[in-house]
Amino acid sequence: MKGKFLYESAGSFGIADAEFSDKNVILMAGPCSVESAEQMEKVSKAIAGHGLKFMRGGAYKPRTSPYSFQGMGAEGIRILEATCRKSGLLSVSEVMDTRDVAEMARHIDILQIGARSMQNFALLKEAGKPGRPVLLKRGMSATVEELLMSAEYMLKEGNRKVILCERGIRTFGTETRNTLDISAVPILKAKTQLPVIVDPSHGTGRKDLLLPMAKAAIAAGANGIMAEVHPDPDNAKSDQNQQMNLDEFSSYVAGLRDFCKRLGKRLA
Ligand code: PEP
Ligand code: MN
Repeated sequence: MKGKFLYESAGSFGIADAEFSDKNVILMAGPCSVESAEQMEKVSKAIAGHGLKFMRGGAYKPRTSPYSFQGMGAEGIRILEATCRKSGLLSVSEVMDTRDVAEMARHIDILQIGARSMQNFALLKEAGKPGRPVLLKRGMSATVEELLMSAEYMLKEGNRKVILCERGIRTFGTETRNTLDISAVPILKAKTQLPVIVDPSHGTGRKDLLLPMAKAAIAAGANGIMAEVHPDPDNAKSDQNQQMNLDEFSSYVAGLRDFCKRLGKRLA
């Protein structure tokens, strides 16, 4: 099935022993921001304890206000890398600046390009170069086609490991932070075999919606889920409202694992 664009023929892939496939649901969990070694250690123990493989944590944070916490930067990357190495987890972290791509690619397993950077074309081209898997989030006002064309920038640079992420779009709704577009999942999956994941944390901004929306995403065919978890969400330096605490995370994982099992899939 060779078409005009590389995303049409790009296939699925694995990262270390984590395979994106119709049989697995890959859960990428972790705090919104890396805040300290102690915080990351607590979260990593919970993630590894549940038999999961990936931990997220932002070190370079895209914040609406320049006065909000901007992330720990290079020190945050060092903490994330050290924690993941110790706990045997794979790391996911956002890169915002072309100048950080090469260095981050040496220390992080999956480079994330955030919603606000989805059409930063210089960043997309740079992120395509090291060959590290890239998790590309849908811009908050981007169409599915625009998301795919942004993926195309990296595929064109020779990086075939692009994960697409639906994380909610702006609508007139006010009950949720964004409107999670579950329909994007089957639409994307009909157009490409690249893995598609869904982020209900940023997609809804509400803890009470994380499990139902993750189930909806999996039922629609998502290959993975992103979820924010923090040992002390009330005192988190970003996204306090949407981060689960460790107990809530345990129930969430149990609920998701049970749901996956009933669909004949494995939560990993
Ligand atoms: C994040 O995942 O840390 C993040 C900032 O998400 P988004 O780019 O989807 O807003
Ligand atoms: Mn966040």
